[in-house]
Amino acid sequence: MDNARRLQYLEAMGIDVWISKTLTQPAQSPPSATESYSLDTPGPSVESDLPEVINWKSLQNEVAVCTKCSLCETRNRTVFGSGNKNADWMLIGEAPGQNEDLQGKPFVGSAGLLLTEMLRAIGLAREEIFITNIVKCRPPGNRNPKPDEIESCRDYLQRQRLLIKPKIILAVGRIAAQTLLKTDEPLSKLRGKLHRLDNTPVVVVYHPAYLLRSLLDKRKAWVDLTFAVQTYKNIEGHYAGIIR
Ligand code: URA
Ligand code: SF4
Repeated sequence: MDNARRLQYLEAMGIDVWISKTLTQPAQSPPSATESYSLDTPGPSVESDLPEVINWKSLQNEVAVCTKCSLCETRNRTVFGSGNKNADWMLIGEAPGQNEDLQGKPFVGSAGLLLTEMLRAIGLAREEIFITNIVKCRPPGNRNPKPDEIESCRDYLQRQRLLIKPKIILAVGRIAAQTLLKTDEPLSKLRGKLHRLDNTPVVVVYHPAYLLRSLLDKRKAWVDLTFAVQTYKNIEGHYAGIIR
């Protein structure tokens, strides 16, 4: 007797049958080898989310008291990052500046205001994405972070990335782009192309602090952001194709 017929009989006899959800749902087809993005399966259950919540908290606590590099001696506050920890978009800047160091939040100075406007222009609110930096403490006088400081802080960003699992990463400015992509290429060569970090698409955009000085390049920044939006839409289309 086939299964459907057997169930009909049992039901007619008033016998409740428990069917495992996994058996009633069609198997999800894996992405084909020719598809370029590796995407996660739909959201984990509440139970399996728990370790992630715990991991996130302990990561926050570790960063808050970190003394792994000498930037801890001059900082006022660490800047862990802010926004949505389930975001599709993760934006990674260079390092906190003066305002960020005082407030403990990323991109809140004048560059941050421009960034917020730029994001709004492509339909993204700050709160719906996750924003952080390569290093979590302000380098004195806003100098570039040094290689050993970047190295000391690398693990935190890596863990943030693994927990957030963004669908797209925006690398903001030269330092973020070169660090994430492990390259010395100038920003002009890195922008306008689709890169990848452990299979996550990475788009490089001009740093808003640079744009504040070079208004002519605002147009290029717009081109970069439009490219990022297009990349994201392509991923979304692909994602919908898999789960439908
Ligand atoms: N510039 C950055 O790269 N990050 C900030 O958080 C602020 C300014
Ligand atoms: Fe720690 Fe990173 Fe701050 Fe250095 S920059 S003290 S590694 S949190």
